[in-house]
Amino acid sequence: MSSIPDSSRAKILFVDDDAAMREVMALILSEEGFDVVTAGDGVEALAELRRGLPDLIISDLHMPRMSGIEFLSVVRRRFPSLPAIAVSGAYDLSQSYAAGVMADAFYPKGQSNPDELIRTIRQLMYKPLKRPTNYHPCQPPRVQTARTGLDSRGVASLLLTCTDCLRAFSVANVSGSDEGELHTQCPSCSARVQFICEVVPGAPLTEVVAAASPGMQLGRVA
Ligand SMILES: [Zn+2]
Repeated sequence: MSSIPDSSRAKILFVDDDAAMREVMALILSEEGFDVVTAGDGVEALAELRRGLPDLIISDLHMPRMSGIEFLSVVRRRFPSLPAIAVSGAYDLSQSYAAGVMADAFYPKGQSNPDELIRTIRQLMYKPLKRPTNYHPCQPPRVQTARTGLDSRGVASLLLTCTDCLRAFSVANVSGSDEGELHTQCPSCSARVQFICEVVPGAPLTEVVAAASPGMQLGRVA
C-alpha cells in the first residue's frame, strides 16, 4: 500500500484502446491504493469526465475515434490544472516532447517500469506542477448561440462547438427543452449541447435553417 496518506482517495483515469493494457494498469494502480477508472478511447474518456473529474489522467496516444493527442489537448484546454501523463508504444517522445504542452510526463509503453510510473504519478499529484495552471479554461457557454454558416456540402446550417470535445459541428437534428432552449447531440462524442437560435426560437430545424439562410423565406415567425 501507499505511503501517501490520502492516495486511497486519489482517482486516476487510465485511457487505452488495448483492453489487456487497461486491465494490467488498473490492477497495478489499484494495488498502489489509487481509485482507477478506465476508458477505451478519447470519446469514452470524455464521457468519464462528465461523471466526475479524476486527480490525474494517463492516456495512450494512438487510439480510434479520438486520439490521445486530441483528448489530452482538450483536457489541457478545459482543465488546465489537471495533471496528465502520455503513454505510447507507437511514438517515442521521451526525449523530444515539450513538457506541459500536451502532458506533464511521458511514459514509453515498452519500458515496463511501473515503479517509475508510480513515482511520476505521485510527483504530479502531490507536488506543484511545473507549468502555469491558472490560465482561463476554454469552456463554451452552457447555452450557446448557434452561428449560421455553410456545412461541408455548402448547405446553410447552424454551427455549434461541442462543450465536451470542443469540436465544431453542424446541427443535424434538434429538439426543444423545457426551458424553451434547443438541444442537440454532438456527432463526435454524443454530449448534449444546448443552444438558442435568435432567428426563430423553438422552430423545427428545417425552419431554423431556412431562416438562417440568407434570401430564403421564413417558414414561420415566432
Ligand atoms: Zn463532442
